[in-house]
Amino acid sequence: MSNAKPLFVGNWKMNGFRANLTEILNVEESIAKTPFHGDVVICPPATLAALAVDALKKSVIQIGGQDCHAEEAGAFTGDISAEKWKDLGAGYVIVGHSERRAYYQEDNKAVKAKSKAVLRAGLVPIICIGESLEERKAGKTLEIISAQIDGCIPDEAQSAPIAVGYEPVWAIGSGLTPTLEEISEAHKVIREALHKKIGDKADLTPIVYGGSLKPSNAKEILAILGVDGGLVGGASLKAVDFLEIIRACD
Ligand code: PGA
Repeated sequence: MSNAKPLFVGNWKMNGFRANLTEILNVEESIAKTPFHGDVVICPPATLAALAVDALKKSVIQIGGQDCHAEEAGAFTGDISAEKWKDLGAGYVIVGHSERRAYYQEDNKAVKAKSKAVLRAGLVPIICIGESLEERKAGKTLEIISAQIDGCIPDEAQSAPIAVGYEPVWAIGSGLTPTLEEISEAHKVIREALHKKIGDKADLTPIVYGGSLKPSNAKEILAILGVDGGLVGGASLKAVDFLEIIRACD
């Protein structure tokens, strides 16, 4: 942890049905009772988002988008703007997830434009960065993640809240994770790079870890200084596992 407010994000990706919302509702009370005082966000597929906002209206769980378009509105079939997420009642939008970077060729410039759009709408962007396996093997991890922070964080972040997700690409959905030392080192470097972009606000910005975070490894990863919570993919689809990960943060 750092001085930032803890944050846990469940990224359902293109998974889950209405039944999964019921599961989350069933554990909501337990989440509300956990002693941790942070934010909990679920990012379901867009088709479930409106239902999720209604179902979780009175709960401590907020809803987020998994991506957005950089423009406010227009002829962009299939896309969703940050303003639409705001209109729906979402509080956060994930931008720059490695799957978006890989399948839709989103580079740091595009991620910066989307981050700007999320801030323009008055929401909090969860800006994702992380090295590939080749980059880690080549000893380039710290250089890559610093460059991603430099390239993705817009100036507007100096005066509005953001969150950063550190997700090594090779750890996502693979069951593999970096060592605790590697995670610690990466978060330290990310915080330093953030300082250069947004000054002391970097100390209050949650930097969360993502990539095969699960109940069995959550306690040790969340205990690392500078890890302010988690961005959880697979394990967030099982509400009890997501709850257990949140509970591991104390
Ligand atoms: P995972 O995904 O927890 O299934 O590894 C994390 C993510 O992609 O956000």
